[in-house]
Amino acid sequence: MKKKLISIVVPAHNEIEGLSNFLEGQLLTALENIEDYDFEIIFVDDGSTDGTLDLLHEYASRSKNFRVISFSRNFGKEIALSAGLRYAKGDAVITIDADGQQPPKLIPKFIKEWEDGADIVAGVRDHYTKHGFIAKTGSKMFYWLLRKMGNKYTVPGSTDFRLLSRPVVDEFNKLTEHNRITRGLIDWLGYDQKYVKYTYGVRLAGKPSYNFKKLFRLAIDSFVSMSSTPLVIFGYIGIIITILSGALGLFCLINQYILGDPLHFYWPGTLQMAILITFLVGLVLISQAVTALYISSIHAEALNRPLFVVDKKKSRNL
Ligand code: UDP
Ligand code: MG
Repeated sequence: MKKKLISIVVPAHNEIEGLSNFLEGQLLTALENIEDYDFEIIFVDDGSTDGTLDLLHEYASRSKNFRVISFSRNFGKEIALSAGLRYAKGDAVITIDADGQQPPKLIPKFIKEWEDGADIVAGVRDHYTKHGFIAKTGSKMFYWLLRKMGNKYTVPGSTDFRLLSRPVVDEFNKLTEHNRITRGLIDWLGYDQKYVKYTYGVRLAGKPSYNFKKLFRLAIDSFVSMSSTPLVIFGYIGIIITILSGALGLFCLINQYILGDPLHFYWPGTLQMAILITFLVGLVLISQAVTALYISSIHAEALNRPLFVVDKKKSRNL
């Protein structure tokens, strides 16, 4: 019987220092012990400038199951993952970082969950090693905000170390948006997910290319691409301001000009002006939010996501 094929997709950007260690010391060792499957390894060289590509070519010349996609320049990890998923031929695809922080020895566990019926197996890091206070707090805030904004799909700490079944990969490849967060999109697709906990390791070598600025951008991208809540928040603020200043203005009008200021507040014209302006600011914020709602519906159309995703495994006689 023909063995099932599993693709391993690895994005790599300037990983020369730790690459052979990762490949030979970790990945290939892990795969050697798994007998019942064929494997293809797809490296996506994301515009490396340090000789990573030469080393990858060398591996590729030794085995035709070692495939290399080379980008013309650096496009970022999210795009690299998408490229890998598009070229992968496997019945299941596993995505994993090239820096050794995501342990390949967990791959058998992923495969077992998949064979037991899961369409997506996601690696979830259980705690942080060598992460500073800012990174930890930032990450917690990120997931809290994401949840608040209505993204119920993403589990805190879930990483890009994942296994996707062929149907999920096919659906993922249909997505057309350019500004993409791979994890978020996979979660959006739905399907049954299983989680495998692991401890995020320490980089084998080299430096992470995601600095604070890039991570911040990534966070903003996730919010913007997955939810329109930020657009609407200011509308709510506007409503509150309008109601409060409207009430105050009304009180002032009645008190001063109808009742003749019986309590002797002596509210000067400047204060009345301030109340009026605040009221108008509230109105402006509300009208902005209304515009924002239109923009968000244009945004949803522009993303052009499929209307629905059918889980073929759970459907019958289609
Ligand atoms: N990576 C990439 N393109 C980039 C930045 C990173 O393909 O522009 C790869 C990198 O080689 C590694 C993975 O993405 O395999 C994760 O990157 P990194 O370790 O810098 O991020 P972190 O571990 O902090 O998530
Ligand atoms: Mg890393």
